[in-house]
Amino acid sequence: MTASTLTALFLLALFLSSGIRLWLSLRQARHVAAHRAAVPAEFAASIELAAHQKAADYTLAKGRFGRIELALGLVWVLALTLGGGLQLMHDLLAQWFEPSTLWHGLALFGLLSVAGFVWELPGSLYYTFVLEARFGFNKTTVKTLILDTLKSSLLAVLIGGPLLWCVLWLMRSMGANWWLWTWGVLIAFNLAAMVIYPLFIAPLFNKFEPLKDEALAARINLLLARCGFQSKGLFVMDGSKRSAHGNAYFTGFGAAKRIVFFDTLLATLTPEEVEAVLAHELGHFKHRHIAQRVALFAVLSLAFFALLGWLAQQPAFFAGLGVEAHSEALTLILFSLILGPFTFPLTPMMSFWSRKHEFEADAYAMAHAQAGDLVSALVKLYRDNAATLTPDPLHSLFYDSHPPATIRIGRLKAAA
Ligand SMILES: [Zn+2]
Repeated sequence: MTASTLTALFLLALFLSSGIRLWLSLRQARHVAAHRAAVPAEFAASIELAAHQKAADYTLAKGRFGRIELALGLVWVLALTLGGGLQLMHDLLAQWFEPSTLWHGLALFGLLSVAGFVWELPGSLYYTFVLEARFGFNKTTVKTLILDTLKSSLLAVLIGGPLLWCVLWLMRSMGANWWLWTWGVLIAFNLAAMVIYPLFIAPLFNKFEPLKDEALAARINLLLARCGFQSKGLFVMDGSKRSAHGNAYFTGFGAAKRIVFFDTLLATLTPEEVEAVLAHELGHFKHRHIAQRVALFAVLSLAFFALLGWLAQQPAFFAGLGVEAHSEALTLILFSLILGPFTFPLTPMMSFWSRKHEFEADAYAMAHAQAGDLVSALVKLYRDNAATLTPDPLHSLFYDSHPPATIRIGRLKAAA
């Protein structure tokens, strides 16, 4: 492959994927705006017109924001690659670090992270303090945001730094099969993170307290016994510290599993509804959806690393993406920048797979709790999160990890 062929392929994938994303976003906006005037008949009894219109406005505002982010992301990728940004950073750092050393590679990742943070800062501030605030969802204070940023930067340096060093060293020292070693290290790291994150990292950002509501705990323990589920405890997380959006999730492995409820979720749902939502989450566990996800991630990333191993040997890889210098760090950075446009066709497949899992988890919830309770819980969650009930079918098919409200609730109601 010549450098100009790679440049052409890269630009084609980049503009084609961005074009499709823009087209889907505009379709979604048109569809939501066209259905803003009336609540869909299925929800007329449970959702007020004001809530429906708030959901439409929120969806439209997020869509507009998403299109600006899309344009900014396009500028960012082009500026770094063909615009010469990466080469510039590489040369700049060469004043302090010998370019052939791994320190230079680490410094390049550091500089790129800082530059990316600055580039995205206005957008993320706008999203949290203007867009989310306008719809009453933002609970983050400037102080929390600054502390969060400091903590995650420190973690990135303490954990990401040594990990990156290890990867760059493997790339340099392990010969032609370096990509297999790197893949192994990253998979091991990911599995370790699944154990370490809930126990040591998440508590740095949120408070976790045992569930105090004894009646609710008794109800949940009955459900767990009915489903044959072992857990290391029920916890409540102060999600309201940052956002009014609600959630419930599981963390950990084997007998060390913890069940975590956002305080925002417990504040709005009745005990019966909490039980039904939890039964749905148990369904994900019983069907091994999380294990399947981890396995798919391992297989896909192996394929990507094999591709990277091959690409890194092609002289055209660097020149075709606007970089004259060669280094392990540049290989990784360039690959991560072009991966998005080229893997974009996987998006609808992953969404389809996820929606299939949601239906399976709903079926499990119907068997172990009341379908009617899950319906009323979902209606409250749609309402409180201002999620649209009228998505564009094609946009939904492409992106939605959860089935559209009408289809999902229609199935549950039919069963109830
Ligand atoms: Zn689910």
